[in-house]
Formats: sequence, C-alpha cells, structure tokens
Amino acid sequence: MSATSPSLVEGTVLDGGRGQYRVQTADVTLICDLRGKLRKDLLYAISPSWRHKARRANVKARDPLAVGDRVRVLPTGGGRGMIEEIVPRAAGAFSREADVGLTTSVAGIDQIVAVFAVRDPEPHLGLLDRLLVMAEAQEISAIVCLNKADLGADAVLLERSDMYRSLGYTVVLTSAANGLGLDELRGRLAGRTSALLGPSGVGKSSLLNALEPGLALRVAEISDSTGKGRHTTTGTRVVPLAGGGFVADTAGIKTLGLGRAAAGQLDWCFRELRPYLGRCQHNDCGHRHEPGCAIRAAVAAGEVDQTRYDSYCRLYDQGAAQAGRVWRDLTSSRSLVGEGEFRL
Ligand code: GDP
Ligand code: ZN
Repeated sequence: MSATSPSLVEGTVLDGGRGQYRVQTADVTLICDLRGKLRKDLLYAISPSWRHKARRANVKARDPLAVGDRVRVLPTGGGRGMIEEIVPRAAGAFSREADVGLTTSVAGIDQIVAVFAVRDPEPHLGLLDRLLVMAEAQEISAIVCLNKADLGADAVLLERSDMYRSLGYTVVLTSAANGLGLDELRGRLAGRTSALLGPSGVGKSSLLNALEPGLALRVAEISDSTGKGRHTTTGTRVVPLAGGGFVADTAGIKTLGLGRAAAGQLDWCFRELRPYLGRCQHNDCGHRHEPGCAIRAAVAAGEVDQTRYDSYCRLYDQGAAQAGRVWRDLTSSRSLVGEGEFRL
C-alpha cells in the first residue's frame, strides 16, 4: 500500500460522509467517491498495527473517513475523483492505547485553540481547564488564545497565563481589533487542523476574519446550509487556510471523545499531575480525601498549582461525563451525547 501510484494525488478530507467527500489537494478541491472495497481494506491492508485497526474499525462504525483525514485520490475529471487510499494518521492523535475504542467525528482535528477574552466577557479559567482536559484526553495539542488584548489584561490574568505556560501550553495574546498576536496565531494554525473553542463573545469569528478576510463567513455559511445544496450529509467539516492548515467548523463538531478522562484517568489529563501518579498510598487514589496522597502533598508543598487542583477536584466530583454537561450549560444549545463523550 505504501507504493503509491504516481497518478494518485494526496489531499485532505474537508467534509462529507457516507461515501462522498470533498477533498482538498494541493491545487484543487475534488468531489470524491470512496472506492467501495476501501472499507474492507481499511481493516486489513492499510492499518499498520492492530491498534490502528481497532480504532479504524470503530470509526468505520460511523464512517470510514473522518474530516481532516489525509487520503490519496485518483482524479477522474470534471472536478471529481476516487479515494483510493487513506493515509494512516501520524502517531500522536488518536493512535495510542487509551484511544482504542474511541469513536469520534473530529478525528482529523489535531489541535484545540481555547479562546477567551482578557475581559468582556471575563475569562472563565475553569472552562479553560475543562477544554485542556478534553485535549489531553484525546492526546491532541492545545493552545490558549487570550483575545481582546487591546482592552488590557490585568496582572492576575498575566500571572495565570505564565502558570499555563509553565505547564507547557502555548498562550497567545491576540487582538482582532488591533492585530496584536495575529502573526503568531497564524503560525500556530499553519499546517494543523484546529478547532477554535470557547464561549461566545470572546471574538472567535472576529479572529478568523482578522486572520483571513471572510474566513468566519466561509465557516458560518457552510454550517448554516444544512443539507441545502450540499452533496453530503455530515455536519463536521474543515475549512482550508491560505497559509496551509485547516480550521474546523466547530458548530459542526458532534463529539469529542473523553478517552482517558472517561476511563478514570482524569488525573492524567492534568499534565502537571503525571509525575506524581502511582506515588499515592492507595492505588485507586482519587486525590481528594485519601490518606497518603502524593498529589495533595504536592499541592500543599506548592509544587502543584492550587487552582488547577481545584479544577481537578471539581471535574472529579462531577465525574467526567458531568463535566461535559457543565460545558454544555456554559455554551448553551449543546448537549452531552453519551457516556464518555462531549457533544459541543
Ligand atoms: P464569538 O462569539 O467568539 O465569535 O465573538 P465575536 O467575533 O462575535 O466577537 C464578539 C464581540 O467582541 C464583537 O462585538 C467584536 O467586535 C468584539 N471583539 C472581537 N475581538 C475583539 C478584540 O480583539 N478586541 C476588542 N476590543 N473587541 C473584540
Ligand atoms: Zn492521591
């Protein structure tokens, strides 16, 4: 399968489903059918490991392809093509053991951009922690974007930003109004498939438009045209960026699997807690009230940020699934799909 025919061109699935997809190649967008036998091939020929097969098998239960997947297409003329091969995803997103069995319709997304405003509305860092847990649960990267920097970030927020940076997260201060940080954000989006997530009013649409004129409209137009004049039926889609990479239409995102968080590994999803895991007196320590808890000791010693630990406790007490519910309440009109999945 790796000996690719020279007549095949590689591209990215923009949207589609049930055998028909729009694929962006280097120079053109093609409406593509899926080679019929590919569904079977997915399970037996392309996947390099059983884990990959297992995951594919699960995705296949919904659709053999996810938006954002890389595919090899045989152009058949008239703006159409035939998807002949699916490029296995790179190690990292959705390829680890914890993700076996995870079904998701955002499999192609490899980066979450958590967008908040420095003020108006006040940033909700508890929600930020929830988003970061979602990213960690899926082992995809997350960056933090603090928009409306032109309004001035207060000292407390800057201190919190530094704390997130110390955890290894990239924090970008942006302003859609005066252009601050846009080059950096553009650079972070290039070559990735990103989902901008965050409360309404923080400037997500404004940011997209500031990055590329009309971009927000292109995303919105697509999500508003449900079914009408469209050749496919699934809602999730990605929009190409001029500088390379894609932005996901978050309105179309159905679910984000919780992976490890749902599997009782919420603590692992707080990356700063990982060095302490396995050091508690009890194997199944929830790090709440148990004696001999290494994590509570680390918090007491100031090695782990108290507020982040508070977020952990809140999510732990709610349960991972409940955390999805709270996310729904905060962002409205969005609901929890089922155990172990967030619906956005
Ligand atoms: P969304 O709901 O996250 O897509 O937010 P919008 O893009 O609709 O922006 C919400 C409001 O914030 C609008 O009135 C924007 O004009 C304003 N806004 C967006 N970005 C900025 C910014 O960087 N600075 C300032 N001062 N206002 C902004
Ligand atoms: Zn513990």
